[in-house]
Order: sequence, then structure tokens, then C-alpha cells
Amino acid sequence: MSKQNVLCKKPIIVALDFDSLTEARALVKKLDPRLCRVKVGKEMFTLFGPDWVKELLDQQFEVFLDLKFHDIPNTVAKACVAAASLGVWMVNLHASGGAKMMLAAKQALDHCAQPPLLTAVTLLTSMDSQEYQRLGYQRTLGDQVMHYASMAKDCGLDGVVCSAWEAQALSAALGNDFKLVTPGIRPKNYQKDDQSRIMTPSQAIAAGSSYLVIGRPITSVRDPLGSLCEISENLVSH
Ligand code: C5P
Repeated sequence: MSKQNVLCKKPIIVALDFDSLTEARALVKKLDPRLCRVKVGKEMFTLFGPDWVKELLDQQFEVFLDLKFHDIPNTVAKACVAAASLGVWMVNLHASGGAKMMLAAKQALDHCAQPPLLTAVTLLTSMDSQEYQRLGYQRTLGDQVMHYASMAKDCGLDGVVCSAWEAQALSAALGNDFKLVTPGIRPKNYQKDDQSRIMTPSQAIAAGSSYLVIGRPITSVRDPLGSLCEISENLVSH
């Protein structure tokens, strides 16, 4: 990626996984909205709600609201419109909610003044093959991910959340414009934590990832901005 590309695409999304607003605020203060976006998930949204999202937006951060909606089409469509009214940059849902649900969400967002990007979770990357088998799907796990991603594309969604290990096949099949949002990213010398199928930031981008969701390698280090800058710099050379 060229430096220009890294700056304008801002591929890094910092996952804010905190149960304390004080800690989250202290971390965010150290970040730069010109260099990254942020992700608010179920924990922080449940604890601190839309006010926290607004606080981040007021600081010029673009927010990925990672609430993974899964409900009847009408409810999910309305939830997506509510997310759009907050002014978030990206919102997501579970592809397993079905095509009607995805279409309803997409169509509802199309009527919004400032629609966020809409992405779908295919299969949770925490799912191992044993757990997957117990769900009773007929396809292999990889084929099911591809199936869900194709459905999401057919419904007009902007992309999917997936493992970087699936990125190459998905971008080859679905094209470069279809966004691939990938967690499970670990810089070379950082520990794995509880992630298993990890990739380095530059490997993930080379595999076709559009956005890298990175939590602890940025949020749990002594110098978060330093780590963010180092990861961005490393992307430039690739
Ligand atoms: O700290 P770490 O980089 O592992 O954080 C990754 C973030 O991405 C967390 O917010 C986690 O919930 C999220 N995530 C994930 N794997 C998925 C989906 C989301 O790690 N399949």
C-alpha cells in the first residue's frame, strides 16, 4: 500500500473493548482520528449507549457500531436506521438472518440521509469445525462462508466481517469493491492472546482485507499511538 493509500483508506479499526468509560476515554485520547477508526461493540454499547458513540463522533472518530443485528427484517431494518441516525460509519448484521432481513436493512438504509456502510457477519470466526458440525449445515465451513458472503453481496451489502484467512478466496470471488473487515490481526512480535487463526496486518492486506480490526495490540500497550503508527508505517512498505 502506498502512504497515500494508507492515509486515505485508513484501514485500521481500533476495537474499544472496555468496561470502564474512564479507561476507554484515556485510550481514545491517545489515538488520532486521522489515523484510525474505532469499533464499539455489544459490551460498551450496552454499558454506555449512544452517548458514548456520540462522544466519539464529536471527537471526529468514524465509528463501526458492531452490534451484529439478527432479528426479523422489520426490527433489523429499524435498528439499522437508528444506527444511521447516530451518524456511525459502519453497522453490521448476521447473514444467517437471511436475504429478506439483509434486503430490508439495505433498503431502509438507502432512504437515510447519511447511510453507514452495511456489512454482514458470515460465520463467527470463533466457530471451530466441531461446533460448526453440531449446527447441522450441509456445506463445508468454507463453502458456507462463501455462500453467506455471496448472499450479502446479492442483497447489496457493502461487505462482510470475516477471518483474514478467508479474505483471499472472498476477494477473488466477490471483487475488490466488496469490503472485507477482518479481526484476528496480530503484529509480528505481539502475542496471540485468545486468537487462533491470526495474520499480521500486512499479510491481511495482501490477502485482500479492506479493514483490519485491531484491539489489544493497540489498546493494551504502553504507547497506543506509537503502536498504531508503527502498524500503519508497516503497511506502507507493503
Ligand atoms: O484484541 P483483539 O485484537 O483480539 O480484538 C479483536 C476485536 O474483534 C474484538 O472486539 C473482538 O470481539 C472482535 N472480533 C473477533 N473475531 C470475530 C469477530 C469480532 O475478534 N470473529
